[in-house]
Amino acid sequence: MSDCLFCKIVNKESPADFIYEDDTLVVFKDIRPAAPVHLLLVPKKHIRSVNDLEDGDRDILAELFMVAKDMAREMGVDRSGYKLLFNVEKGGGQIIFHLHLHLIGGWKR
Ligand code: 5GP
Ligand code: ZN
Repeated sequence: MSDCLFCKIVNKESPADFIYEDDTLVVFKDIRPAAPVHLLLVPKKHIRSVNDLEDGDRDILAELFMVAKDMAREMGVDRSGYKLLFNVEKGGGQIIFHLHLHLIGGWKR
């Protein structure tokens, strides 16, 4: 998708503060963090939203959650706690229509 911002970030055509990358996904910091820790986990494959997941995407979902768990530990929020969030379509708050999992945490409580 040539007009997709997250495809451009995945392809290194747009800059981002990368934290992690493997064959399936990239992880980078959200540009407008909603909390001290706010990462976006983005599959390399362009999938519009949760609504558009196909049977063959199961491995991508597994990788998203396994990497989310590892990232939470690396960012030091695994024990204090965090949120994992998919916004789905406009009414669900989605503004970038390339599937991504928010990892949000690090509040002082
Ligand atoms: P959504 O609302 O679609 O679930 O989340 C999109 C997220 O992408 C928002 O939290 C927004 O701050 C973030 N975002 C939008 N544009 C950019 C960008 O160019 N770079 C980065 N790192 N994050 C972005
Ligand atoms: Zn895309």
